[in-house]
Amino acid sequence: MNGAEKKRKFNFRSLPLYVLFAGAIVFFIIKLVNIQITGTDRYVRTMSLTHEREVTVQSLRGEIFDRNGTPLVKNEYSDDLMLDYGALPSGHAEKNDALARLCLVLKKEGRQVETVMPVTGVYPHIQYDEEALSSQTAKNRMYRFLLYHNIRSDTGCLELYEQLLEDFALLDGDGEHIYDPDIEDLIVRLRYSLDATDFAVSNPYCVCPDVDLRVETAVLEAGCKGVYIKKNFSRVICVPGVGSNVIGRTGKIPADKVGEYLEKGYSYDATVGLDGAEAAFEDILKGEDGVTVYVEDGYGNVISSYVKKEPVPGKNVYLTIDIGLQAEAERVLGEQIKKVAAAGRASGVEDNGEKADSGALTVFSAKTGQVLALASYPTYDLSTFSRDYASLAADPAKPLFDRTLSGTYQPGSTFKLATTIAALMNRTITPDTVINDTWRYTYYKDYQPTCWRSGGHGPLNLIDAIGASCNYYFYEIGRLTGISVMNKYCRMLGLGDYTGIELPENKGVLASPEYKESMYKTWVPGDTLQAAIGQSDNSFNPLQLSSYIATAVNGGSRYKATVLLKTCNYSGGDEQINQPVVLGVAEIDDMTVSAVKRGMKRSKELTSTTKGYNFQIGTKTGTAQTSKTNNNAVLVAFAPYDDPEITLSCVIENGASGVNAAAPVLDTISYYFHLDKNGNPLPAAE
Ligand SMILES: [Zn+2]
Repeated sequence: MNGAEKKRKFNFRSLPLYVLFAGAIVFFIIKLVNIQITGTDRYVRTMSLTHEREVTVQSLRGEIFDRNGTPLVKNEYSDDLMLDYGALPSGHAEKNDALARLCLVLKKEGRQVETVMPVTGVYPHIQYDEEALSSQTAKNRMYRFLLYHNIRSDTGCLELYEQLLEDFALLDGDGEHIYDPDIEDLIVRLRYSLDATDFAVSNPYCVCPDVDLRVETAVLEAGCKGVYIKKNFSRVICVPGVGSNVIGRTGKIPADKVGEYLEKGYSYDATVGLDGAEAAFEDILKGEDGVTVYVEDGYGNVISSYVKKEPVPGKNVYLTIDIGLQAEAERVLGEQIKKVAAAGRASGVEDNGEKADSGALTVFSAKTGQVLALASYPTYDLSTFSRDYASLAADPAKPLFDRTLSGTYQPGSTFKLATTIAALMNRTITPDTVINDTWRYTYYKDYQPTCWRSGGHGPLNLIDAIGASCNYYFYEIGRLTGISVMNKYCRMLGLGDYTGIELPENKGVLASPEYKESMYKTWVPGDTLQAAIGQSDNSFNPLQLSSYIATAVNGGSRYKATVLLKTCNYSGGDEQINQPVVLGVAEIDDMTVSAVKRGMKRSKELTSTTKGYNFQIGTKTGTAQTSKTNNNAVLVAFAPYDDPEITLSCVIENGASGVNAAAPVLDTISYYFHLDKNGNPLPAAE
């Protein structure tokens, strides 16, 4: 728990919901006693003139945990003292009296009255608070207020104040002040605040946040009118700065979605999930609001209340994310991106990684579709989001953009495994088929691409071709297999399709004649050669790459990607496990699975960074052209070799070469399996 932000906490797991109403109950007892002792005659006189007022009691929002039960988002509660438009007297004299009484009590209790009037000093020694007025919100409020009161915008501070004394009827018939200066000051400020913040039935005003029972009691004993206690909660981020893209934020309903939420039964001032898991699992986390009815007499005194509808708390959500793994993935990814950029600068060669500033790393369960980590770099801290927003939004590296799901990248040579599957399943080749790479591929007269290795690789079988990432071999098997068969298998592998994850994602594009046609272009034979090595229009999000490798190495089960492990009641019971879902079964036989795995193992053994780790795993690099000179670094991996449990993908934008994406993936595997670089078990953590 974040010590600095620690406030009052209630353990709602051990206390039933009645706690919610404790304040209100105390209030009514006091109120009833008060009426019986002091206000009997008035009560009797007006008892036939009661009316009922409904107040929404916001349900408790479910909390969020990681897969191991580590809290990620908890609730923090406060009792806020609110002014209610419907219950506050409307006449000037009565309203001033009600506010004066309230201000007196709060003052006596040592509590500040919340106001937003941008004026400093005490009448008549007052002036505009220029610092407060530097905020656009304060300016807008002032503008609206002056317009509403028909006061010129260039009115001086003293003049304005004296105008308000008159407008708010704070002077008697002889022009004398009715209230003591300090109370008058608070009434002016409060009434300014109400008008300037659009105080209305749907928009109550918080006059004093986070009050304790003592203040509640004092306020209610004093017979203050038009006030009520609102149980408010705020979200506390338990592991600040980690997994922000997955967890997401809550906040007031966005202006453009008010209608949509009101239709679903939300109150105007409800708190809702805005993005990440908070938004994706809104229906699970939310619960159902309750309604309390206040019965008031003709004077606005509450004489009784009853619960019309009990609030039902939302359910807790356990994500599939392992927050420790997520933190490690974010750390090693960020470190590697900085390293690549530094090495690029040091090399003095242009477009050699010096522009690397962002990337993504995903960890996916090959056996269930559960997403274990989604690291996007650069990232942000949810606990300081509001404060940091302006600089985050202006950052050219776009830290608010989730590259793991919304970013789409050319897969480069990591796509050669899909081409392999299509060619083997189509019986175009066998793993032993040898093709002689003579560097330039001369099948077509008008389009003759070359292998990346000058002079070519010479004769290679499939496993060696994957290991060496030979372009020539894949031009040939791509041409022989044909684009329609390649597309058929790629679709079974989920390439260019949604992974099924509950968070928003960009599904990317699978290069195909249909897609090219939709762009008003015609597919030509050269496109098939380019598509076979992961170029042409191919672009996928990083999670899709992990999902595709999982389907390839687990024998063809394409699991729906998910970040939802399970849900349970707010108090902990009634666990609902989110069972794995198979979106489709790709036709992949054992021979093909084995060839893909052997090819990736060969690739791991031949690649400079990956061979330094003594792990039994498979990897495949990709270097994807983003412009004539710039390349993204891409790497996919599965582990362990014998019985693949996880698959990983890493993209480093402008990372120059696929091998640059290797270290963070290998380090993440090391963390996951508790192995050091030599494959020996790491000492247990404390
Ligand atoms: Zn080659």
